[in-house]
Amino acid sequence: MKAVTIDDGATYETASPDQFTQAYRDGETALERREDTDNVLKTHVIKGEFAAAAGYLHGLAADARKRLPRHVEDCPCRLCVHDRECLMRSIYRTWREAAAA
Ligand SMILES: [Zn+2]
Repeated sequence: MKAVTIDDGATYETASPDQFTQAYRDGETALERREDTDNVLKTHVIKGEFAAAAGYLHGLAADARKRLPRHVEDCPCRLCVHDRECLMRSIYRTWREAAAA
């Protein structure tokens, strides 16, 4: 695993920094590009591009955090807890679907 640092200062561990970083940027802009995020994520997983899947999720989360500037990463408010639960469910669902495919 190698460490990769994104411009906002966050550091992540990944086996494929280039793949991770590219997917991170895709995730960060997915909402404004009206991308089908479930489908993109599923495609990465099915192709075995796990670094890209992780980068994409982190990019989505980073973009979501930017839209909630008053909330910190471990914010206990209902909205943030709900968002984190949705993200975890989405990750779990994608993995389960990939395992079943
Ligand atoms: Zn919050």
